[in-house]
Amino acid sequence: METSTGAAGRSESTPVVAADAPDTAGGSTGAGEGAGATAVPAVRPAAPPASLSPSRAGDFMQCPLLYRFRVIDRLPEKPSEAATRGTLVHAVLERLFDVPAAERTAPRARELVPGQWDRLRESRPEVRELFAEDPEGERLARWLAEAEQLVERWFTLEDPSRLEPAERELFVEAELDSGLRLRGIIDRVDVAPTGEVRIVDYKTGKAPRPEYAEGALFQMKFYALVVWRLKRVIPRRLQLVYLGSGDVLTYDPDRADLERVERKLLALWEAIREATETGDWRPRPTKLCGWCDHQAHCPEFGGTPPPYPLPVRAAGSAPV
Ligand code: SF4
Repeated sequence: METSTGAAGRSESTPVVAADAPDTAGGSTGAGEGAGATAVPAVRPAAPPASLSPSRAGDFMQCPLLYRFRVIDRLPEKPSEAATRGTLVHAVLERLFDVPAAERTAPRARELVPGQWDRLRESRPEVRELFAEDPEGERLARWLAEAEQLVERWFTLEDPSRLEPAERELFVEAELDSGLRLRGIIDRVDVAPTGEVRIVDYKTGKAPRPEYAEGALFQMKFYALVVWRLKRVIPRRLQLVYLGSGDVLTYDPDRADLERVERKLLALWEAIREATETGDWRPRPTKLCGWCDHQAHCPEFGGTPPPYPLPVRAAGSAPV
């Protein structure tokens, strides 16, 4: 079983552009050609998916066609203010742990916001277009103030002066016995002197209503499964910190939980593999379509997907 960990940026879990989708490996191209399809600039060659992350698993569960657009076609997406603010806030919370514990105060964290925004603009020039039509800088100032409020709210939920994370922005990857490769980026890993592991994820949105908590925990159980496979230790606690609403959601997983998640992921991967080989990616319209960048390519909105860039077999025929 091959496994790995390492420091990482945030492009995997809060993608700004689909070109960052990490679940694929090399292959052939062909997107954007053919009559009736909108020309699509080739960002990287299209390829069958090679691994699964919580974000992309969530995409497939939400809408298989969205998964195809992001992972197979790698259609570019515009940066959004909300996602970019999330990336900025994550960067500030991560960097705050670089300063001595006693200095990890709300004012110090707020001071980090402008510098981290500069760094983000340098590392991802595409985010500059967010405020290209804001000559007076009013919208940018409001947006930065909202980021500062989110950072400040964190101090009502956790006390970073009493935390010494074992890991921050940790890239993790593990291969299950089935061969399925799981990967992702964990915001923070805390390890108690007893060896107990806590996985923490920051959300800049609001906590879900209780009936939707299971969906929110899916990502955390995914990470717990990866950590279990990597370190042979089941994390003691999973913790979601909602900066938008000021809530903390926790869950203590057990072995049966993680085995259930593994079975679910294997079934999901089988469905993805079937769709990849047949080219049968169904749109599943929901109210989330309002946030989808790909309506112009979606049949539900009168669009046409780009030509499928991978070889296909007939649905129902034996796998290749
Ligand atoms: S618009 Fe809706 S149905 Fe169409 S690809 Fe996007 S999420 Fe799927």
